[in-house]
Amino acid sequence: MYELMNGKEVAEKIKLQVKDEIAALGLDPTLAVIVVGNDPASKIYVNNKKKACEQVGIESLECYFKEDATEAELINFIDELNESPCVSGILVQLPLPEHLNAKKILEHIDPAKDVDCFTSINTGKLWLGEYELAPCTAMGIIELLDYYNIDIAGKHCVVVGRSNIVGKPVAALMLERNATVTICHSKTQNLSDVTRKADILISAVGKPKFITWGMVKDGAVVVDVGINRDEDGKLCGDIDFKGVSDRASYLTPVPGGVGPMTVAMLMKNTLIAAKNLQ
Ligand code: NDP
Repeated sequence: MYELMNGKEVAEKIKLQVKDEIAALGLDPTLAVIVVGNDPASKIYVNNKKKACEQVGIESLECYFKEDATEAELINFIDELNESPCVSGILVQLPLPEHLNAKKILEHIDPAKDVDCFTSINTGKLWLGEYELAPCTAMGIIELLDYYNIDIAGKHCVVVGRSNIVGKPVAALMLERNATVTICHSKTQNLSDVTRKADILISAVGKPKFITWGMVKDGAVVVDVGINRDEDGKLCGDIDFKGVSDRASYLTPVPGGVGPMTVAMLMKNTLIAAKNLQ
């Protein structure tokens, strides 16, 4: 019998802590969110972030640019936000339209305000174990495991997916917490042989029902990062929940697992950035 890791519930508790700390310190943090174009999924994510900001007492500054915005326009605007003493955190909602070089644009964010933690400096600090800001989804996974008292040290953690946004940073954090980490990707051979060795299996692939019963060891802790639509258009993760729930000891749902934790970590990072800027 598995236990559900309720990210929604844990995220609410973390947001309450953030709210209390902001009030106790008398801070007035502002999170600037840059949105380019009209991506419908981005709209939902930006709304969720805005709601979370309202909940915890962070001012949310949404900055909208047209689909045909230029790199120069965005970089100039980021420079202004970097300079502004009123802005604690800056994030650029991804994906950006194809004509824009996301990496180049993200690099312009002041690392002290880089609450998504995507700049090279913050990525380097993460791998050196010298970070203050860690990528939100990766950190959210660690906090969720901690909340459920799941031991990480010495465990074999298999991460499926090697993106800069999820796969690599979560691998870095698991390594820092003394897990033995294997990272898999689309060129990994005999994937099920590798995933079946995982004590903690984290899937960040983006394919519905990708991880099936036969790929999971009995008693494994399974974390589903994927946000996908199934054949009926319903929200689902990477894990075949029904099958894998037979094997897992702990399991995250989609929705209500890693997603809300990501937003809660964004609030936490904005608070950290605001404290550092004081
Ligand atoms: P990317 O598309 O950037 O990365 C997907 C990764 O999966 C790649 O490393 C790719 O390998 C790997 N992959 C693809 N096919 C296979 C395969 N057959 N076998 C093994 N590995 C494979 O996605 P993201 O990391 O940005 O996101 C992953 C998922 O997580 C998406 O569903 C996204 O929506 C979701 N997400 C959820 C968040 C949350 O808060 N819950 C936050 C961010 C993302 P390769 O590198 O070789 O191409």
